[in-house]
Amino acid sequence: MAARYIMALDQGTTSSRAIVFDRRGRIHGSAQHPFRQIYPQPGWVEHDPREIASSQLGVMVEAMVSSSVSPDEIDSIGITNQRETTVMWNKKTGEPICNAIVWQCRRTAPLVDELCADPQVAAMVRAKTGLVPDAYFSASKIRWILDNVEGARALAEAGQLAFGTVDSWLIWCLTNGAVHATDVTNASRTMLFDIHKGCWDEELLDLFGVPASVLPEVRPSSADFGVTAYPGLPAGIPIRGVAGDQQAALFGQCCFSAGRAKNTYGTGCFLLMHTGDCAVESSHGLVTTIAASAPGTRGIEYALEGSVFVAGALIQWLRDELGIIGSAAESEALAATVDDTAGVYVVPAFTGLGAPYWDAQARGAIFGLTRGATRAHVARAALESLAFQVADVARTMEQDAGMAIDQLNVDGGASANDLLMQFQADILNAQINRPQVTESTALGAAFLAGLNTGFWSDLEEIRAMRERDEHFLPAMDASVREGRMAGWHDAVRRVLSA
Ligand code: ADP
Repeated sequence: MAARYIMALDQGTTSSRAIVFDRRGRIHGSAQHPFRQIYPQPGWVEHDPREIASSQLGVMVEAMVSSSVSPDEIDSIGITNQRETTVMWNKKTGEPICNAIVWQCRRTAPLVDELCADPQVAAMVRAKTGLVPDAYFSASKIRWILDNVEGARALAEAGQLAFGTVDSWLIWCLTNGAVHATDVTNASRTMLFDIHKGCWDEELLDLFGVPASVLPEVRPSSADFGVTAYPGLPAGIPIRGVAGDQQAALFGQCCFSAGRAKNTYGTGCFLLMHTGDCAVESSHGLVTTIAASAPGTRGIEYALEGSVFVAGALIQWLRDELGIIGSAAESEALAATVDDTAGVYVVPAFTGLGAPYWDAQARGAIFGLTRGATRAHVARAALESLAFQVADVARTMEQDAGMAIDQLNVDGGASANDLLMQFQADILNAQINRPQVTESTALGAAFLAGLNTGFWSDLEEIRAMRERDEHFLPAMDASVREGRMAGWHDAVRRVLSA
């Protein structure tokens, strides 16, 4: 039987999902399973690697069975994953030697501060990796495990210890230990990888005390990662696409060339802009990262990445703490009952402000209240604050890259909000494109796999799937836009700590 589908495995921070895509990029079947979040101490976050693997392999089978797809109808597998999370296992037994340290875990913050205290060292790390030294990335997590897990160092010295981000761990499990590899996008989040040369870097390995023997082999994102061979599971399905979640989403959003950008409106926002073969160094604290490339691409392609800490979380706050809406979707209907915010601005600096302000001490505020302000004005101002924050990050990227964002491809829960999307188009003065299938992350992994096997012939075939995008065109007068941006910046200035 001819293969008709691609299986995307989307291993996220709180759940594992599997989606079966058809040739037109539509969802044919899916399954999802949450797994345990382990908090051994305040600020520490762990996952059990066996639960990651069992939930992921479980939903893969469930998605096939529930949508009546047989293994021989699956052309190939694409994997996308929570980034930076660190797994270490015994190469001989395949057993993890400890829990995975999750990207959010802060336990190695003092270690990073100590190792990168010298500004020259911090600058070296930044120049080679494109990252701002931080405990998020895998390097210090590996070091912590080597220093604190009994027997880890001895195993490493014997060449029997494997490190991997979650993609590597899943590839190892799926291939039954035949392949220990990762892709360039995941490697670029370890803080051990030279993003310019495209290889593990000795100076960084020395700095973090990581032996080269633990490292996976690095391959392009659309490449051969072996075939499934886990006992009891369908065997022989090729794994041909691998990318970290945000880079997979950029690819799934068809941002294949310089200047193309996507934003995900989830709990927070993740904005990525493709910068072609140029690794743009940000002067505003954004990170430079490797983008996933189609097969046959010469050299490495890059992206600038920025985030907004509080986006959909603000809408949850309106619902759960203020109680002015019953559901996130209701924010749109409520906001639409008024023509404007009547001068109200909400600055959701619940946990400080990120790019371009970088003020960890700033706290949130609502400004411009008059006796006539209603919950509808507050809801509208809250939605607008998502768009203002995205515009701030987008303008910062444009400056850093010297490229204009004239279109933005969107996904994530809050991208369903038409009022927000129209305001985003207006305030950014850019066309917003919302695809029919907003599962961009899984779709990106599927595209990478399907392009590698020839299931899809080229990028043109993939782009053509977006014919039914919904578009929001900017319709705001320039002077109004500038006035609104100035009002927002005035509000932001007033919450800054210094
Ligand atoms: P995550 O992947 O971060 O969990 P999702 O992409 O599932 O996030 O999006 C959920 C977020 O989007 C929630 O924070 C929710 O408040 C917000 N959200 C969902 N629907 C809407 C809507 N119609 N309008 C505004 N915000 C919404």
